[in-house]
Amino acid sequence: MSDSGIYLDYAATTPVDPRVVETMLACMGEAGNFANPSALHAAGRASARVVEHAAGELARLINCDPRRLVWTSGATESNNLAIQGVLRAREHRGRHLITMPTEHKAVTDVAKALGREGWRVTWLEPEPGGLLPIERLDAAIDDDSQLVSIMFANNETGVVQDIAAIGRLCRERGVPFHVDAAQALGKIAIDVAALDVDLLSMTAHKIYGPQGIGALYVARCDDLSLEPLLFGGAQQGRLRPGTLPVHLIAGFGRAAAIAGGSLLDDYTHLWELRDRLWRGIESVPGVVRNGEADASYPGILNVSAGGLDGESLLLALEPLHVSTGSACNSQSGEPSAVLRSMGRSDELAESAIRFSFGRPTSKRDVDAAIESYRDAVTRLRGLLPEAA
Ligand SMILES: *Cc1c(COP(=O)(O)O)cnc(C)c1O
Repeated sequence: MSDSGIYLDYAATTPVDPRVVETMLACMGEAGNFANPSALHAAGRASARVVEHAAGELARLINCDPRRLVWTSGATESNNLAIQGVLRAREHRGRHLITMPTEHKAVTDVAKALGREGWRVTWLEPEPGGLLPIERLDAAIDDDSQLVSIMFANNETGVVQDIAAIGRLCRERGVPFHVDAAQALGKIAIDVAALDVDLLSMTAHKIYGPQGIGALYVARCDDLSLEPLLFGGAQQGRLRPGTLPVHLIAGFGRAAAIAGGSLLDDYTHLWELRDRLWRGIESVPGVVRNGEADASYPGILNVSAGGLDGESLLLALEPLHVSTGSACNSQSGEPSAVLRSMGRSDELAESAIRFSFGRPTSKRDVDAAIESYRDAVTRLRGLLPEAA
């Protein structure tokens, strides 16, 4: 890291794995696979093979046919393509979208924009632990419904939804199902062949791959078509035209292969770290954990300390690099909409801190985080008027 800090913000983005860098460098420069993979000359065909190899690696990670993958610029674009693409293609059948307020902004803001254009949006409130009550979804689906969009693992709390059960219900009711898997890919086993998932959004930069490359899995289904967001060329069946970024795709493929090989080790490592952190701070007065502990991905621990303000806490926690709520909300200054919809008071939501761990995180990093957090909360509490 450029400054001496302890990075505990892996849910926001991860450093690129050196093996991924090596794969990407092999695509760059005069001797690399830099040629346009759509070109018919030998150099272009060599690039096309690099892309095909990467598609195979990503496809293996989620157990799909590599031809069902569309390359995008990241999960934001994948979510937009999935949601807008399906709803615009099915507009003549109905104009109803079902999602949750706990989704990432790359879903909620798309839903709000479609709402302004006249689509009806149903926001399913979670239980206090963050999970979707499935009977609420069953009740929300009607003849007008054209898409259900529910994320796999939550980026603020780590809460993992029951994607198998939600998919089964959507399939029964004949509504396409989109899953934002940006936080789950490469961290939780995903088998799209066994899940009733029609569309799955992915991104490379949360699994030690490069920023700026993602993918959308689109199930093979006669009834499922998508309107493109972009127009311009014949690449990717015109669903997402534009020259493919060969080095980024190669890097994503390599990152996916590495993640697949270390899924269990990573999971165990993260579990130990989160457990250690929680045991170290649970006795701090007023500290509560956000999100169902038994249903969450171990790479994230989200805690609130009532009465304190997240921004001040963040400053007091330096040199730890952590987030209040999610990185994507930190500019708005609003308390996390995710925590508010889980029934947390403004006061608790405002003091939320998200710790997130990765492959390089050590027990020493966690011990430093425990000390900083205990110290910061105690110090800030001492400054509160009622304690004076
Ligand atoms: C990071 C993230 C996104 C956005 O991904 P980008 O690749 O940065 O566009 C979307 N959804 C979730 C759940 C995320 O964690």
